[in-house]
Amino acid sequence: MELGRIIADRWYLFVALAAILLPTIVLAAMQYVSVRRTEAQARATLEANLDLHLLGLIDEARRDLVDRASYITHSVSHSRIRSRNLPGLARSFTRAMRRYPEMRDLYAIFFEKGNEMGAWQVWCYVPPDPEDPSVERYKEVPVGRLKEDPDITEALRRAWMAIPDRKEDATYTNFAPTSLSDPVPRQIFYHPVYEPDHMNRKDDLDRVGLIAFTAEIDSYPYAGYLRDLVALYDQRMGGSNPLGPLAYKVSISDRGGRARDLVLTGSPPGSFRHRGFDDADRLFPGISFGVALRDRSAAEFASQNTGLSLLLGVGAAVLLLIGLALTWHATVREIRVAELKSDFLASISHELKTPLTAIRAFGDLLRSGRARDKERIRQYGEMISYESDRLTTLLNNILEMSRIERSARRYKLEKGDLGAAVAASVEVFRAATRARGFEIEVEIPSTPIITQFDKNALDQALVNLLSNAVKYSSESRRVKVRVWSDEAEAAIDVRDFGIGIDPAEQRRIFDAFHRAPQSEVQAKSGTGLGLAIVREIIRAHGGEVSVDSKVGVGATFTIRLPLLTPDLRQGQSSPSEEMAYGRHSGNRRRTERIGRLVRQLGIRRLFGADGN
Ligand code: ADP
Repeated sequence: MELGRIIADRWYLFVALAAILLPTIVLAAMQYVSVRRTEAQARATLEANLDLHLLGLIDEARRDLVDRASYITHSVSHSRIRSRNLPGLARSFTRAMRRYPEMRDLYAIFFEKGNEMGAWQVWCYVPPDPEDPSVERYKEVPVGRLKEDPDITEALRRAWMAIPDRKEDATYTNFAPTSLSDPVPRQIFYHPVYEPDHMNRKDDLDRVGLIAFTAEIDSYPYAGYLRDLVALYDQRMGGSNPLGPLAYKVSISDRGGRARDLVLTGSPPGSFRHRGFDDADRLFPGISFGVALRDRSAAEFASQNTGLSLLLGVGAAVLLLIGLALTWHATVREIRVAELKSDFLASISHELKTPLTAIRAFGDLLRSGRARDKERIRQYGEMISYESDRLTTLLNNILEMSRIERSARRYKLEKGDLGAAVAASVEVFRAATRARGFEIEVEIPSTPIITQFDKNALDQALVNLLSNAVKYSSESRRVKVRVWSDEAEAAIDVRDFGIGIDPAEQRRIFDAFHRAPQSEVQAKSGTGLGLAIVREIIRAHGGEVSVDSKVGVGATFTIRLPLLTPDLRQGQSSPSEEMAYGRHSGNRRRTERIGRLVRQLGIRRLFGADGN
């Protein structure tokens, strides 16, 4: 019910709040989606970069393997194939096999120019048995021999024919069985031999034979080749690699599908991106190259900025919410003050009217001469005087508040005995309230308490506290005023034994226009200005006012003022006097600063005096 009324009264605030909150939530959601999208893009870019690396590495390996095969086959004398000189070829093969141990089997293939399909003849190289004394030797070296094998012939022919494009003068590769009886595929490199008088060949019809050999990835082109390849490649790419250090892996899976690492550099936290030779390369299909970031996973790489972006987003949202909460608080407060001011205006006419009506009535009574009795006349006079005082206090408070609000209040601080000043003020007040049966006890120390104060302002503050003590005294008609001091401060307690103040209200009662919601308070007339003025006056003196109270027991308001230090007492000019004398800025922070300064100065000088 209460909430419904608040919403109905402040609907425009809720609309403004929603108008800010909704776009903020939408923006925050968009930021989140955008951050996630950026993360996915970063990951895709990383993967594409790793793939590019892999492609470069594989391309290099492919080129090297084929170049090496070409180099080996060029070491065999091609003219022996053209002339079909088997003994010369056996010697040439023997030499090549000794120089390039990574070759497994070596073959010479003859066919008729332009008729590869027809007359196809394969000679396999059989290494010599060094123990056999009948083995032919050439320059002391045992020479192998060549042997024809129809099984191998057919298998190599099929493998050669399966190569799709054989027109170029190049080394061709295929991964195929080299025997029909043993269908296990092997890596085969073929190099064509052409007619001697057609070195500038136009087409493949000039081919008259082939040199072929098989190789195994473990040994071809040579042991450690892949490791060197990876190291060289990494060194070359290292400088231009924006991804940071990389880890490499080359593995091979055997026919059973089991993978075996041939090269592994580093153990990265994430997984490797894998890729093998392209099918069109017709090279070792079981081999697979892998690359990964060495010191973080792809997910970490992609999300390296995510945390920061999200944190910034959340930070901005939190700041905005704090800003909104503060704006809300300030607006509600302003509205409350405006309401209080309008309540004040409504009540002020009543506040002014009541004493005026009383003054008018008692004045009329006196004028009519109907009251003859001296005691009556005195009572009427006292009532008129009391109501005039009330009116004066009220007007003083209104004027004071208006000066404070316009920052036009000036205080003239003068040295004096606080006890004497309080005694004088209470005396005037006591006279005004005695008729109503109030007992005001005063306790003032015998030694003077020298401090600086503006006599009129202090008087006004005291009157406000005493008026409240009387107003909220309920049945008890007792008020106690005590002036006391300790080493640094002078203090005035105004104590009553009346209705007391709820703890939740004790801080707010010093705010202008605020009145406690208690029914006993609301039953009394009031403007809510008295304590606000007391606080402003006391702060301008560099002091503080506080309250200690229990509901139903009473309340003690304590004014604390900085004491004058001994040297200032003796007539030296006081810095606080100069500062405090003049316009009241209405700025609480400034008066608080002055208060602190005065207190600090006073305490230090006391310590200094003690030390001397
Ligand atoms: P007013 O008395 O005109 O309402 P004040 O600013 O003097 O305004 O006081 C503010 C509020 O503080 C009062 O409305 C009342 O609720 C509370 N208050 C002040 N003095 C006392 C007191 N001595 N005992 C109980 N409540 C008090």
